[in-house]
Amino acid sequence: TGSCYQKRFRDLAGLYADAEAFEECARTRGDEVVYEVTDHHPSARAGDLITGVTRMSPGKVGNEYFMTRGHIHAVSDRPELYFGLKGTGLMLMESVDGETRIAEISPHVACYVPPFWIHRSVNVGNDDLVMLFCYPADSGQDYNIIQRSNGLKQRVIDDGKGGWLCVDNPDYRQRPAAEIESIKTVAAQLGQEKTA
Ligand code: ZN
Repeated sequence: TGSCYQKRFRDLAGLYADAEAFEECARTRGDEVVYEVTDHHPSARAGDLITGVTRMSPGKVGNEYFMTRGHIHAVSDRPELYFGLKGTGLMLMESVDGETRIAEISPHVACYVPPFWIHRSVNVGNDDLVMLFCYPADSGQDYNIIQRSNGLKQRVIDDGKGGWLCVDNPDYRQRPAAEIESIKTVAAQLGQEKTA
């Protein structure tokens, strides 16, 4: 079976650092579909794969580039593969311990998101960012992990010269050791249940 979902600009309230710039942008672009996903999920079995295509519009809120909400997989040890089809963007990845990794994506570039890594894509170009993606069918998504830490550790902004720059998010809260432990433990237990 397949599915298709769309996010309008105003659905992304709370994501960006500059709330005033967000409101201003929402007045003109609020109803615009800025992000859409079309995917195919044959089954939810652990050994199956969900494959699809995402498209994200270009733009900025203040000086911060358009991005996806971001998530960690609900079964957190499930990885994901992205492949650039159009445009230029970044895969912003964060470990639960707060390490950041960034992969630049352009057409014909593949990006591997390892197990246990939170991931968010950012459109740093002037065109749509279009990517193919593929992940295990039982992965699921947990979006709240980013809210709990008041955003990811780094934000991606315009460097003023047509490029991008990463800056620290001053509101970021390190994840408590218990949360980190539970993310890793839950994944281990799920893995054992599946093989039991
Ligand atoms: Zn994912």
